[in-house]
Order: sequence, then C-alpha cells, then structure tokens
Amino acid sequence: MPVSPSAMKRSLVSLAVATVAGIAGIAGISAMALQSAPSSPPPAENAGPAPSPPPSLTAEIRARAATLRDEALRGTRAYEIARSLVVEVGPRPAGSKADAAAVEWALRKMKELGFANVRAEKVTVPHWVRGQESGRILAPYPQPVVLAALGGSVGTTDEGIEAEVIEAASVEALDALDPARVRGKIVFLNVRMERTRDEKGYGDAVPARSAGPSHAARLGAVAVLIRSIGTDRDRVPHTGGTRYEEGVPRIPAAALSNPDADLLAAQVASGKPVTFRLKLGSRLLGEAESANVIGEVRGRERPEEIVLIACHLDSWDLGTGALDDAAGCGIVAEAARRIAPLRPRRTIRVVFFANEEFGLSGARAYAEAHAGELAKHVLAAESDFGAGRVWRLRSRVAPAALPFVGQLAELLRPLGVEQGDNNESSGGADLIPLQPAHVPVLAFGQDATHYFDWHHTANDTLDKIDPKELDQNVAAWAAVIYAAAETPGTFGPAPDYVPEP
Ligand code: ZN
Ligand code: ZN
Repeated sequence: MPVSPSAMKRSLVSLAVATVAGIAGIAGISAMALQSAPSSPPPAENAGPAPSPPPSLTAEIRARAATLRDEALRGTRAYEIARSLVVEVGPRPAGSKADAAAVEWALRKMKELGFANVRAEKVTVPHWVRGQESGRILAPYPQPVVLAALGGSVGTTDEGIEAEVIEAASVEALDALDPARVRGKIVFLNVRMERTRDEKGYGDAVPARSAGPSHAARLGAVAVLIRSIGTDRDRVPHTGGTRYEEGVPRIPAAALSNPDADLLAAQVASGKPVTFRLKLGSRLLGEAESANVIGEVRGRERPEEIVLIACHLDSWDLGTGALDDAAGCGIVAEAARRIAPLRPRRTIRVVFFANEEFGLSGARAYAEAHAGELAKHVLAAESDFGAGRVWRLRSRVAPAALPFVGQLAELLRPLGVEQGDNNESSGGADLIPLQPAHVPVLAFGQDATHYFDWHHTANDTLDKIDPKELDQNVAAWAAVIYAAAETPGTFGPAPDYVPEP
C-alpha cells in the first residue's frame, strides 16, 4: 500500500540504505528508502525533440469522461472481479501455490474482460511461510497472548525464546536506550497507530514494524514484539513485512494484537520483571516463480504511449486479501474495461503486480524488463489503499501539467473529490521503481478511516467491501484515466518527491 514517507523519515534516515534493490519492497518504508536512490536528472528542456505542450481538457473529452463517471455510479463489475479473486483463490502470499493460482486466475479474468495482449511476465519472488506461532507471558502474571510473526521474520527454535521484556514507546526511544539494558531481552515496541483518513497514521507508526527489529537487534535484543500497526481493538494481530538490515543479526519479530499489547504494557507497568516466551515457526523457503499479469486497451493513435494502471495480485496469508488488494484489481480492471469501447488515443496498460507485500519483486522486475519504454509511460497510478471512497486526487507531474490535473479534479468534484498537492510520494508502492525514470503519477486518495482496522489481518475479508464504494472508485478512475489517455500533451517529467519537514 502507498505510504507518504515523511513521518518515517526521522527513524529511517539512520538506516541510510546501502542497497536500494535489497530494500525496495517492504511496503511502508520503500518509498522513503528509494528516495535516496540515485536517479537520473529530468531531461533538460532543450534535449531531444521539442516537448509537446501540456495537456488541456477539451469539451468533448470532458463530456465523454463525465459520462463514464456517471454511468459507473449506476453499478460496475468491480466488486464481482474482486469477489472472484477472493472466493476462487483466497490468501495468496508470494511464492505459494495460491500465488500461482492467482496468476492463472488473472490471465483468465483479463481475457474474459476483453483486454488485448494478455500475458504473464515472469518474476522471481521470495517464498516465506508462517508456520506455528504462539506467545505467553510467563511472569509476573502468566497468560497466553495472541500474536503473528511479521512477514519475513526468522523463526525461533522449537523451544522458543524466553527472556525478560523491555518496553520502548517508539523506534527513537528504543535507539536512546542503553545497550546494556537491552542485551539479551525481548524488546516490546509499544507504538499506537493513530486513526486518520489518509496515510499519515500508518506512515507514522509503521517504522516500528519495518525497521524496529533491526534497531533492537543492534542493541543486542533477542526478539521483538510490536503493538499491531492497526486501529482496531480486536484480539487479532496485524502482520506486514519487516526488513532486516544488512550486517545486523536477524531476530524473530511478531505483532501482538492491540488488546494483548495493552495487557503486556499493563504487566510492565506493574514494575515487576516481565518474562515472555515466543515461539515462531516462520521461515524463508527460498525463491519461487510468480508473474506480473498484464492486459491492455491498445491506443488508437499512439499505442506506444502508455498510461499504466495497477494493483497487486499477492496478499498476506492471514486474511483473504479482499481489501489488500483484490479491491484495487477490481477497480483498475473495471475502469479499463469501461474505457475500452471509446478506444482512446494512447494505450492503457493494466498491471497486476506480483509480490508487492514482501519486496516489490514484481514492480522491480517490471521496471527492469520495460526499462526501454519507461520514457513512453506518460502516466501511472495504482489502487492499493483498500475499498473506501476516493476523496482526493494527488499528483506528481511536471508543473506545466498541473492545470490539467486541476481539470481532472474538477471532473471528479461531483464524486466528492478534492485536488491534493503535487508532491505525492509514490502513487503506490509498486510505482516506486518507476521513479528514477520520472514517470508522472496520479494518486486516487481513498478514505482509509476504517481500512487499518482490518489491514493485514484475518479480518481482511470480502464483507469489508461495499460494492457502491468500489463503483465510486471506478467512476473516478474511468473518467480520469480516459481523459489522460485521450488528451495529447505531456505530463512529465515528474519532479522529485520532496519529503516534508
Ligand atoms: Zn499490504
Ligand atoms: Zn497492498
């Protein structure tokens, strides 16, 4: 899922990523990490052929886009597509049998939807499995707790790890602890995620998951427990990728459900020493084959120019990946299907990316395989923020194209959408590998007020999707993507993302 990385900066800056390729991936931190990647400067104004003028919406295109918008509100197939993936495939972590089934499903579905050039492009992905897991407070007041290994976590021995618990309120607070106090202990990162409509709450809290384990290991900790990165009060843990830093011991890491984090904090607050036993059966099995699945609506006049719209096909193992990200696949595929009869000037390329959750493998493979045509990617967008209504349209386009984004936002005003800033961090985690090529992005900001009650949990199931809200998403996507694919003129090169202070 896309994350504005501004708030992660403080704790992540110290990670000073040596290997960009190695880190890309763990959703939630990758945007920040890749900002430090070397990237070629935008082409100079006078290099190559004269740039075409910025796009501007004609009355005719506006009218057709408005019709697409209004017709989608009367009902679309987006929910049916998402439902099909959830019911027929279900949980589909990268490298699993279900992941392969999802690729087959996507090929079938894209053909059924009538896309051209439907194909699977091979991607190598890591295959991590969860295994059995359990946690128990041993002292001062023994009782079991509910937890889940973080994605990518190493396991423990069969006997588990038993150690005293030391609590920290944030990654920064952890860093400030005396290593002598942390050595040999289980670090409990007790960071509570704030509920926000946008990605801020998640962005602020997620470093505990993505970076916490390596920060703790550097101080000599033997394992990490985090409070789930989620806004619910259910006794249900939230998983999600963690990223081990090179050169630092890899220690087991798990998320406690929010009520269990409360319980552990209360025992720590008793002032008595707290000991804990953690057993994780998780392990990395090696590499497996997966694929990006691609289909197109071929452009009428400029088929070589591409408007890329994306989602990710993989999911975590605990739920059924309905919100994350079957919903997104339903939205973008249905938007493209509805645009197809209008045969826009440029090609609309629909990409269902492999393995977003645990390393952005699909997105990185795409950027590599299509390096030669990235300059022809006129615009990119990804739907990966649940199934809530779109309320904001953000962008990162050349300043000259901003008035056009304003026209697009105006088109979406009847849907309750406002225009956001032109400093969108990524447009979706899978678009991060396109940043060095300065591909312009649009971001359809969805209402995430409830998303993080269910995100990456066993509760990410179909009943959390309101079909009407998906229709509203399709209305926004169909109108904007049609207008962008039909209107001549350049949107790029995209300026660099500037982290907020
Ligand atoms: Zn996710
Ligand atoms: Zn996602």
